[in-house]
Amino acid sequence: MSRSAHPAGPRHADVLPEGHYTAPADDLNALDPKVWAHTVGRDADGVVTVGGIAVTQLAEEYGTPAYILDEADFRDRARAWRTAFGTDADVFYAGKAFLSRAVVRWLDEEGLNLDVCSGGELATALSAGMPAERIAFHGNNKSPEEIERAVRAGVGRIVLDSFQEIVRVAHIAESLGKRQPVQIRITVGVEAHTHEFIATAHEDQKFGIPLAGGQAAEAVRRALQLDGLDVIGIHSHIGSQIFDMSGFEVAAHRVVGLLKDVRDEHGVELAEIDLGGGLGIAYTSDDDPREPHEIAKALSEIVTRECEGARLRTPRISVEPGRAIVGPTAFTLYEVGTVKPLEGLRTYVSVDGGMSDNIRTALYDAEYSVALASRTSDAEPMLVRVVGKHCESGDIVVKDAFLPGDLAPGDLITVPATGAYCRSMASNYNHAMRPPVVAVRDGAARVIVRRETEEDLLRLDVG
Ligand SMILES: *Cc1c(COP(=O)(O)O)cnc(C)c1O
Repeated sequence: MSRSAHPAGPRHADVLPEGHYTAPADDLNALDPKVWAHTVGRDADGVVTVGGIAVTQLAEEYGTPAYILDEADFRDRARAWRTAFGTDADVFYAGKAFLSRAVVRWLDEEGLNLDVCSGGELATALSAGMPAERIAFHGNNKSPEEIERAVRAGVGRIVLDSFQEIVRVAHIAESLGKRQPVQIRITVGVEAHTHEFIATAHEDQKFGIPLAGGQAAEAVRRALQLDGLDVIGIHSHIGSQIFDMSGFEVAAHRVVGLLKDVRDEHGVELAEIDLGGGLGIAYTSDDDPREPHEIAKALSEIVTRECEGARLRTPRISVEPGRAIVGPTAFTLYEVGTVKPLEGLRTYVSVDGGMSDNIRTALYDAEYSVALASRTSDAEPMLVRVVGKHCESGDIVVKDAFLPGDLAPGDLITVPATGAYCRSMASNYNHAMRPPVVAVRDGAARVIVRRETEEDLLRLDVG
């Protein structure tokens, strides 16, 4: 094909280089509601707005890059999960996706519980007033100090991850004169990602105690004997960004099998089963996530059916969505610094952030969408790669996407669905200062996590 026909670089689907992308949308100015927070739109001038505020105003006031979080959208999603699961089940928000004190308060107000997996997350939760009994403490290597702090605070459950931890938590609880509610995390040999699951996944991973070889049954046997522990249930978490419920079906079948064995051996019916998180969201228009009410219905039917088959009382179900609540609520706002067309390949668009504020593309080959936000444009679509400003060629934010061909330095662009695992995994690589999280609601914006400063960086560098 002739390159000279496209002097400014590949702009049409028939000359696209290799890569994974969908054809450019008919209208690059359109914002697919699937991938954007609920209150996002464009104003009369074509500027993207969220919660009634234009991104141009947000950029002026808070600078770029910045994570802009739609508080109403967060609360809507949290409430949808809460409502879908009703009073017979518990929803634990997975704090590792994104945690701040404002978020903890919203969760508390919306009636959700909270998962933490480190002393830092626990401290954040407690300092924002989350009642300890609504906190679950996870992790494969909790330190004795972390365990003691959690037990003293009175967390609702500690999820035990190894034989050593069973003894460790029991010992600490006993020495504090307490009986700590615990779940035992098992691996059921199912691994689920997006559209497929492997029912015979080997259990070669750091989390949980394998069901295979009777290890999980042995863990329950030991835990039931310890005075410091109140064994309330079994925990299983099978993957991430899952759209297909059949992995949960196999996992539930295997967890209920263990509950049945425990009943037969000990005469004890464990009261709870936690099916973990991992529910998928739309990063691009190609993704079709399920609604919380469909997920709740499916999970409850699966567990009820399995328990009827095993003649067990149906245990109380809990789930732990992180990404599915906070992921779609936020987008990252960047300013374009340079636009570099590479003939026959694509155009590299450099923004003022990068892998320090979004490591997921480099780490997981994640896919994202992107939109021109400070204006609309009728220019021809051009194939772009949005890259950061770091000294690393893998510093990619959006691998393959289309933006208007007249994109120029100074334009603001937004990458949607960056609420989960972006700020929480952000780094100071190249001594970048981590961006703020700005929450917007009803025409008002406020910083809930402020931007780091050079002072913050230098404060840790004690010479
Ligand atoms: C990471 C994790 C979650 C949350 O996963 P999402 O993909 O954000 O829903 C829930 N439970 C456990 C045990 C996890 O490790």
